[in-house]
Amino acid sequence: MTTGDPPRSRHRRVRTRRLRLVLALVAVAALVAVAVVAVPLLRPPGPRPLFQMPVACGETWQLGTYPGHDDFDVDLFPTEGEAWGRPVLASYAGTVTVAGINGSLGGRTPENPDGPRGRGGGYWVKIDHGGRWETQYLHLLEPPLVREGQEVAQGEQIGRLGSTGNSGAPHLHYEQRRGWEKVETWFDGSPSGITTDEREYTVRRESNNCVAGQP
Ligand SMILES: [Zn+2]
Repeated sequence: MTTGDPPRSRHRRVRTRRLRLVLALVAVAALVAVAVVAVPLLRPPGPRPLFQMPVACGETWQLGTYPGHDDFDVDLFPTEGEAWGRPVLASYAGTVTVAGINGSLGGRTPENPDGPRGRGGGYWVKIDHGGRWETQYLHLLEPPLVREGQEVAQGEQIGRLGSTGNSGAPHLHYEQRRGWEKVETWFDGSPSGITTDEREYTVRRESNNCVAGQP
């Protein structure tokens, strides 16, 4: 003879079923969230954009690195004229993903070039060029001239050259990244030759970051 379950046990079973349903929904939501984040990241990077030097068209700059920098990092110094305040240009069209302060600014300015050193990159900008390619521009003099989320064109000015953050002298620290990793910087379709920070190395290149209809 069956007597049916006592009420408490039935309640427990209903509660267990409800809990299982909630857990299943949470699991599905988590899977969807992971897929939305992970799938674009797992996609293989696209072809290298035709990056240009991040400085004015026709100017010759020194590209260099030194021991303890980091493999592939490039420091740019102008070969002529004052470095402070020189326009820093987008290497290629894209979307600004960072425009702010990395580390601390310190106090190095044109008026006080030997002021206290900051930490990290100081005022900096990061641009997403699509296809999982990014460029970074560090040690800018002033708050960037662009804001996060802004679309920029190749050759558009994003800031002015400075010495904020951990910088000895006014220069532009520049990186190209593919996916998770830094890679050798290429300009105008040819490699910079800067692939290691094991020894000091410099090379001169002329910028071809020229925009039709602009000087
Ligand atoms: Zn650097």
